[in-house]
Amino acid sequence: MAVSTETMQVFEPATEQVLAELTRASREDADAAIARAKEAFPAWRAVKPGDRAKLLRSLAREIEGSLEELATLETRNVGKPISDARGEVGMVVDVFDYYAGAPERLLGDTIPVAGGIDMTFREPLGVVGLITPWNFPLSIASWKVAPALAAGNTIVLKPAELTPLTAIELEKLALEAGIPEGVLNVVNGPGSVVGERIVEHPDVAKVAFTGSTAVGRRVGELASRSIKRVTLELGGKSANIVFADADLEQAAGAAPLAVFGNAGQDCCARSRILVERSSLEAFLEALERSVTALRVGDPLDEETQMGPLISADQREKVASFVEDGAPVAFRGSAPDGPGYWFPPTVLSPVSNDDRVAREEIFGPVAAVIPFEDEAEAVRIANDTIYGLSGSIWTRDGAKALRVARGLETGTISINSNNSVRVTTPFGGFKQSGMGRELGPHALDYYTELKNVFMAT
Ligand code: NAD
Repeated sequence: MAVSTETMQVFEPATEQVLAELTRASREDADAAIARAKEAFPAWRAVKPGDRAKLLRSLAREIEGSLEELATLETRNVGKPISDARGEVGMVVDVFDYYAGAPERLLGDTIPVAGGIDMTFREPLGVVGLITPWNFPLSIASWKVAPALAAGNTIVLKPAELTPLTAIELEKLALEAGIPEGVLNVVNGPGSVVGERIVEHPDVAKVAFTGSTAVGRRVGELASRSIKRVTLELGGKSANIVFADADLEQAAGAAPLAVFGNAGQDCCARSRILVERSSLEAFLEALERSVTALRVGDPLDEETQMGPLISADQREKVASFVEDGAPVAFRGSAPDGPGYWFPPTVLSPVSNDDRVAREEIFGPVAAVIPFEDEAEAVRIANDTIYGLSGSIWTRDGAKALRVARGLETGTISINSNNSVRVTTPFGGFKQSGMGRELGPHALDYYTELKNVFMAT
C-alpha cells in the first residue's frame, strides 16, 4: 500500500546491528493514510458503543497473546531491560481494557434552562494524528490510540523513526482483533516530512504529540494555523525532594531507578535530586551503594536493570553534560564493546543554575542539589521551565501534601517513584505540555463537547 519505495534501517542499540529494514514513508504516504482514515470515520463512529467496546477488548486480548514477542521487540529496538518491557506491554493491555469501558460511558449532561431541554454530547473529532517518541514506543502509542478509538475517532499514527516496530505490530493486531481496515493507520517516516504533513493536513482534526519541547513548540505553531486541536506531552526536569526526616535508605534505594530507569531516557526522570543539607552526607553514602549495585548490561538478560542509550548521537549528547564541569561524585558500571553504553553518573554538589540542572539530559545522569529548608526546596523545584513529574520523601504527611500543592508540576508521588497509572491523569504544567493522558480525563481530549437545546 506504500507509495514510497525508499527504505530505512532500524538498529539494536545493545549491539549496534541492523534489526530491520523498512519502507520510509513519504508525504504522499501520509496523505494516503489520512485519506483512508477519513473514509473509515463515518462507519467507525456509527459502530454501536457496545460493539466498539468489544473490539477494544479483543485488541487487548491480541496484545496479551503477543506479550512476549512485543516485549522482546521493544527490548531489542529501544535497548530497555526485558523485565521493564514486559511490564510496559502488560500496561498496554490494561490501557485497552480500561478504555474498552469508555464507549458506553461517554456521558453527557442535562442542564436546566427555560423553555425546553438542554443536553450535551461528546462527539468524536474525526481523523486524529498521533505522533510518538522512541523512549516508550508502544506504551505512549496506546495512551493515545485507546481513548481515540473508544471515542469513535479514526487514526493516523506516526511512531519515531528509531523505534517504529511495535507500532507496526499494533496495526496488524488491531486488524486481527476485527477493527476495520482504515481505522488505525501507521505511517513510518521522518518527523520533518510525515509528522509535519499530519500536523498541517486539513483533514486531521487533532494532533496528540509526545516528544521534545522544541518539536512540541513547532507542532503547536503549525497546528494553530488551522486552529487544530492539539495536546502536547513534552520534556521534563523533575525534582526528587528528599527531606532529612525521610526514610533515607528507602529514598536512596528508590532514587536510582527514578532517574536511571530506561537509561534516563524518561520524560518523568527525577534528574534533579534535591537533598536537605543536614542529611546530604548520609543520603549520598546510601545512594552510592544503590547506584553501584545497579545491574547495567544486556537488555535481554532477566536481571538487567539498565540497558544502553538509544543511539551514538544520544550518548554524545549525554557525555557533553558530564564534561560540563559539575563534579562527578560516583558512577555505576557499563559494559565495554559494542552498544551505546553510558554508566549511571551522579554529579554533586550541583547548583540549580548549572546547565545539568536546567536542561533535559535524557540519559543516566543525576544532579544532586542541596537545600536548607522546605521553602527553598519548593523554590528550587519550581525554578525550571518544566513541570512534568516529581517525588517527595518525608515521614511528615502534612509537609508532604503542603509541598505537593506548592509544586508547579502535573504528576507527583509521595514516598514513591511511580506517577504513571492507567486510571489517573498524566501530563505537564508549564513547558512540559498541555492536555492530559490516561485516566478518565484523556477522553475529553479526543471528543468535542456539543450542546443541544430543544424547545418544549
Ligand atoms: P522528538 O521531539 O525528537 O520526536 C518525537 C516525535 O516527533 C517523533 O515521532 C518525531 O519523528 C516527530 N517529529 C520530529 N520533528 C517533527 C516535526 N517537525 N513535526 C512533527 N513531528 C515531528 O522526541 P524524541 O527524541 O523522540 O523523544 C524524546 C523527548 O520526548 C524528550 O524530550 C522526552 O521528555 C519527551 N517525552 C515526553 C513524554 C511525556 O509524556 N511528557 C513522554 C516520553 C517522552
